[in-house]
Amino acid sequence: MEKILAEIEILARQMEDEVIALRRDFHMHPELSHEEERTARVVAGHLRDLGLEVTTGIAGHGVVGKLTGARPGQAVAWRADMDALPLKEKVEVPWRSRTPGVMHACGHDFHLAVALGAARLLSRLKDRLAGEIRFIFQPAEEAPKDGTSGAPGMVAAGVLDNPRVAAVAGLHVAPNLEAGHVRYHREEVMAGACHLTLTVIGKPAHGATPHRGVDPILVSAQALGLIQSFLAQRIDARHPVVLTFGTISGGSRFNILADKVVLEGSLRYLQDGVRREVEEGLNRKFAGLALATGARIELEARPIYPVLRNDPRLTDQAVAVLRRVLGPERLKSHFPAMGSEDFSYFAAQVPAFYFFLGVKPPGKKPQALHSPHFNPDEAALTWGLKAAAGLMAGLSEPEFPF
Ligand SMILES: [Zn+2]
Ligand SMILES: [Zn+2]
Repeated sequence: MEKILAEIEILARQMEDEVIALRRDFHMHPELSHEEERTARVVAGHLRDLGLEVTTGIAGHGVVGKLTGARPGQAVAWRADMDALPLKEKVEVPWRSRTPGVMHACGHDFHLAVALGAARLLSRLKDRLAGEIRFIFQPAEEAPKDGTSGAPGMVAAGVLDNPRVAAVAGLHVAPNLEAGHVRYHREEVMAGACHLTLTVIGKPAHGATPHRGVDPILVSAQALGLIQSFLAQRIDARHPVVLTFGTISGGSRFNILADKVVLEGSLRYLQDGVRREVEEGLNRKFAGLALATGARIELEARPIYPVLRNDPRLTDQAVAVLRRVLGPERLKSHFPAMGSEDFSYFAAQVPAFYFFLGVKPPGKKPQALHSPHFNPDEAALTWGLKAAAGLMAGLSEPEFPF
């Protein structure tokens, strides 16, 4: 095993330009969620050229490539997402987006290049690999359509089965972490999320006579206060939870009380029990507020992504591999993030390891994902490639070597 990891290290360094070229090609041709037609075609073409067993058209534009090692071992999977965002790129580089209004601003071009690079690299070591390495290219991570994103569709299509994989791994680029550094967590990595809709129905009246109606704007303000005091004092402070609203709408004219106000937001948590606690607790509070004000208050919490949990034992094994291929100084355990990611659907099925790879150019200010200025450091690609190839080679061994 040590020998394979040493070879991965050498091959990854030799492949630096190749992986950068892959990344730039995807960066120049970004596609929105559910529309990853070209991306999937390019991915499938590369995988077929390597002689992998390729399946396309899974849950939309999903692609799976299977690489079978020469020795007996476990089936393991690496997942990369493929979609871009509706943004006009503001980065001035020769490889900037050629598709107006669409940009790889979440680093999924990096994820694609790392996964394809790993498929290439490991194909060259096929004779010495154990088990089966499955590369899952998933569409539509960013924008669920009709409430579904790409991951649950791929899970339902059986991409983790036949044979069932013993582990699934993947990474996301981190814009505020130095390029090539890794952060991980042994248990909860990212939050579960619900899409909230809070509807406050009042009774319209002339703005001069509010006592004849019920003002849903005033009741909404009271509801917002209740929510934050409920979270601060009724939820155990050791259980992280965030509830924010992104939109508020209601009313038609300055001197008429609105008939209703609708707020949309998100609720994020690291324990599923907290979601139920918040929903039940707020419904109780709102029942009291409704009684006091005469308004009707409805709260709908539609789950979007489950909590993303790493398997602690697999994490220990994965970290042991990463220490060898990246060097221990590049790895650090870190707090969970309150963002969400549909990799959680894979992680809910089989033991998972998801981690963050830094892409911040050294000495530069932290950047932000989903920004038209996002310009990750391509030096991180080689580190990502070493990590992905090392993990797949290590975890597919019949018995964990370290
Ligand atoms: Zn994103
Ligand atoms: Zn992303």
